[in-house]
Amino acid sequence: RLAKFPHTKSFDTFDFAAQPSLNKPLVLELARGEWIEQRRNVIALGPSGTGKTHTALALGLVACQKGHSVAFTTAAALVHDLMEARDERRLRTLQKYLASVKLLILDELGYVPFTAVGGELLFEVLSQRYERGSTLVTSNLPFDEWTTVFGSERLTGALLDRLTHHVHILEMNGDSYRLASSRRRQKDR
Ligand code: ADP
Ligand code: MG
Repeated sequence: RLAKFPHTKSFDTFDFAAQPSLNKPLVLELARGEWIEQRRNVIALGPSGTGKTHTALALGLVACQKGHSVAFTTAAALVHDLMEARDERRLRTLQKYLASVKLLILDELGYVPFTAVGGELLFEVLSQRYERGSTLVTSNLPFDEWTTVFGSERLTGALLDRLTHHVHILEMNGDSYRLASSRRRQKDR
């Protein structure tokens, strides 16, 4: 289930002109996939509708095409799965799988705060992946607000420390593409 992409998006359909705040040369470099061989991470930050999920899916697709194992999930769904696995006494199996995929994509960190246990389980996953594989996280929250998701300042600090040690950051601070395109449609009517 984790390995399934919700839908396919690629860079062919991505309009860089619509998101001028995004570092296009960096994205094109990431689209070559070497960061995955180097076990580096990517964090895409920006408000809703700025193309974070699109970019994450497109980078995930490249990774698949290069033959890497990729898992795509939202942060909230992963925490839910981890809690469920723990209750059903199969946490180790899930943790092993999550530690073994070449690229783990965690979409939408920040919309739903975690319980203390949930935050710790997610921390463990990222900790186990540290320098073993690449993780791509998308978030609507700047780093200094990640504590609101994890509750604990200590845990958030330790997590950011690991996640940002070898990282490429994509800042997407433009307007919502959804909003802009619905405005365009309104005008055309
Ligand atoms: P986010 O994850 O940041 O909320 P999405 O990636 O889901 O935003 O983008 C919202 C919608 O707009 C998606 O259908 C996506 O494909 C499209 N979109 C966003 N940015 C662009 C862009 N620069 N070029 C083309 N489509 C875009
Ligand atoms: Mg999204």
